[in-house]
Order: sequence, then structure tokens, then C-alpha cells
Amino acid sequence: MDKKTALSHYLECERMLNTFFEEVNYCLPNCISQEKGKMYHEHVGFVRGDVGCCTFNYHASTHSIIGCLDVLIEERGDSIPTNTEEEIEGVGQPCDYHTSDGCLLTEYKGPLCLGAICDEQKNYIKGWFGIKYNSDYVIEQLERILNGTTSSENIIEFKKEILKNIEVVKRVKEYSTK
Ligand code: SF4
Ligand code: SF4
Repeated sequence: MDKKTALSHYLECERMLNTFFEEVNYCLPNCISQEKGKMYHEHVGFVRGDVGCCTFNYHASTHSIIGCLDVLIEERGDSIPTNTEEEIEGVGQPCDYHTSDGCLLTEYKGPLCLGAICDEQKNYIKGWFGIKYNSDYVIEQLERILNGTTSSENIIEFKKEILKNIEVVKRVKEYSTK
């Protein structure tokens, strides 16, 4: 698969995952708006809420496929901002793109940014919506899409799974407000 096609599939998956997590609506009320968030660090406990889990430059990190971010970074076409955020004691500087208003990137985020969530949110998704969310699986699919090493059939299947999860969340929410 050529790079442009791979990137366009990736960006579509990004939008779909954004919709999924917007529907779940866990991070803002339970972490980002709280003094202490859900990200646990072994040396300092739960880190400050507004940072969420953006405690590291995950936009530039990969899970298993080295080099899969090249096309993303190239097409993103910006320069990495200078981080002026206050350091988290015992943890270090939050991600370069993190600000008090959230992430500066509205799209072209890395697979780890899009796919990784904390255990608390996984438990919530399982408990409320019956969905077993698997971060490793989602990140792997995103990396393989970016890298152009997955088949069109797999991409279609992956998108279907996200869409199905969005529908499940919407249905459960509708049902619980009746
Ligand atoms: S995934 Fe967890 S730690 Fe990260 S922002 Fe959401 S609630 Fe916070
Ligand atoms: S790029 Fe955005 S989502 Fe990713 S780690 Fe940085 S602040 Fe968080």
C-alpha cells in the first residue's frame, strides 16, 4: 500500500477512535478536570489531572514497529513546540504538545496517543458498555496501517470493530437515559 493511502486510512481510524472516546466520555470528567488524574506513576502516585496520561512524548514513540511514524511526522508538517509546562515532580516534563487547554494536535497523533488508555478507563468501558478494550491490539493495528503492512481486509475489519463499539456505547447511553 502506498504511503498516502496508508495515511488516509490511519487518519480515518483516528477520527473514528476520537468519536469512540468522545462517546465514552471518561477522561475529562474523571481525570483531566480533577486535581489528581488516573495516571499512576510508581514514584509519585497519581499525577496531576490536567496532564492525564500525556506525561511523555508519546507522539514520537512506537510500540513495536520502528519507523512507522515517519510518514505521520512528515505529513504533519509542523515543528515540535517548545514545552513551557510545569514539570511533574518525579516524572518529568509532560509531552511537548500538552498545554493547559489539552493537546495541541487535533489530528496526526501517534498510535500510542490514540490507542493507549489507563486501566481505570478500560474497567469503565468493560463495566458500562461490555467492551473489552485492548490497547495493545489497537496500537498494533494503527502502526501496521501507518506502515502499510496490513491488508485492505484487515483495515476494513478494524474500522468495522471501532464503528461497532461506537454503536454499542451510543445504544447503552440511550438505554440508560430512558
Ligand atoms: S486514559 Fe486514563 S490517565 Fe489517560 S487521560 Fe484518560 S483517564 Fe486520564
Ligand atoms: S501528542 Fe497530544 S495526545 Fe499525544 S502524548 Fe502529546 S499531548 Fe498527549
